[in-house]
Amino acid sequence: MDDVYDVAVIGGGVVGCSVLFELTNHGYKCVLLEKSPHLLTGASCGNSGMLHTGFDAEPDSLELRCIQLCQRRIADVFQKLGLPYNRLGARMVAWDEKQKALLPRVVERSLHAGISDIEEISISRLYQEEPYLNSGACAALWIPGETILDPWMTPIAFAHHSKLKGAKILTDCRVRGLERSYTNQWEILTDKQTVISGAVINCAGLYGDIVDRLVNQQSFSIQPRKGQYLVYNRNTQHLLTSSILPVPTERTKGVIVFKTVYGNVVVGPTAEDVDQRDGMRTIIDPAVTRRLISHAHSTIPLLKTHSVVHMYSGIRPATRQKDYQIKAYPERNWITVGGIRSTGVSACLGIAEITRKHLLEGLKQEPSGTPVSELEQLQFEYSSPGLMKVFDTEYTITHPITLCGLSRPPASL
Ligand SMILES: Cc1cc2nc3c(=O)[nH]c(=O)nc-3n(C[C@H](O)[C@H](O)[C@H](O)COP(=O)(O)OP(=O)(O)OC[C@H]3O[C@@H](n4cnc5c(N)ncnc54)[C@H](O)[C@@H]3O)c2cc1C
Repeated sequence: MDDVYDVAVIGGGVVGCSVLFELTNHGYKCVLLEKSPHLLTGASCGNSGMLHTGFDAEPDSLELRCIQLCQRRIADVFQKLGLPYNRLGARMVAWDEKQKALLPRVVERSLHAGISDIEEISISRLYQEEPYLNSGACAALWIPGETILDPWMTPIAFAHHSKLKGAKILTDCRVRGLERSYTNQWEILTDKQTVISGAVINCAGLYGDIVDRLVNQQSFSIQPRKGQYLVYNRNTQHLLTSSILPVPTERTKGVIVFKTVYGNVVVGPTAEDVDQRDGMRTIIDPAVTRRLISHAHSTIPLLKTHSVVHMYSGIRPATRQKDYQIKAYPERNWITVGGIRSTGVSACLGIAEITRKHLLEGLKQEPSGTPVSELEQLQFEYSSPGLMKVFDTEYTITHPITLCGLSRPPASL
């Protein structure tokens, strides 16, 4: 008989890795099942790597609640695990009177979200602080809490730390079917082996609805939304001191000009509804590229003198609903953590905390082990192109931000 676990987490994206970290730290015996050969190959390897404060999140949403919970803890976790991050702040710039008229609503919404340090700044201060910004700005907001992080290293650290504390991580391990045993446990049929677990947490991201369907559940369906980016060399980093945000619309946060924790200036993401969950990520649309280049040049004109060194894209696990789809099914010991479309990094520890509460209070599933008393500092070593060692385990880097930051840009996506 294979090992028996308290909890099986399906999916090794940022959400699955964060849930694994939270539950392992609280004494649950966990296994993570990932269908790909490496962790972070879905939505989580094509994002912006920004830790948003939630200033523009939907008021009273579960998404905002998760972001707020994450904000309370994440800086401490970054420091304890030894992860890079930078609280650079962001400047939201209105380029015409119509956009300017929308700024008071952004401030109002952010106050409602409990973010009180957002402020309108004068145009002279804007240009003093962002001297390379194009002329013509009408108004701007300063949002000091917006932070950049390494979007690959962070979830990898969560996964590796969990492994150090006893969790099992199985890659190349697609979940193909699930059955309830006569002892009321889940028998999870995978590519590799059958796994037995008390509870199951579906963190399958872009495939969340499909994994739910394996147990005849269907409360949402994924509507993939693509976002494309341009990456500039690290020698552009002096052109920005913060992330330059557009005024958001109902549908999207818009295209951001930002720099990564490694100093590459990045422009993106776009937002296009697409009909495929996987293949679309590697297709770079030339028309979208032209739009991004024009956005880059009209925001920071000096970017015209630099070349784009890489392009990448990611697919958001969006749904028809705006909010996250986190649902507990106590009668079958199942939790679905789905539809985490555009803030999964910013909310990761909050999503994990809420999931743990569902597990304990809704499913009444107690941990079989003892909680982890202290987080351990991890040692990352960039061992060879495309690979990173954490102590003696080698991980394949799947996120272009980390790849471009640590080495020459990847030849292909
Ligand atoms: C363009 C773009 C920009 C973004 N920018 C930001 C940002 O700046 N800040 C922020 O906070 N968020 C951002 N996001 C959102 C964030 O990336 C997502 O919310 C997050 O990646 C969702 O993670 P996930 O773990 O739910 O999904 P995924 O990353 O898709 O992970 C799900 C995993 O489940 C696995 N899986 C699927 N089916 C099975 C199965 N049957 N068996 C086993 N494994 C399975 C998949 O292989 C995958 O690894 C952005 C997203 C995109 C696309």
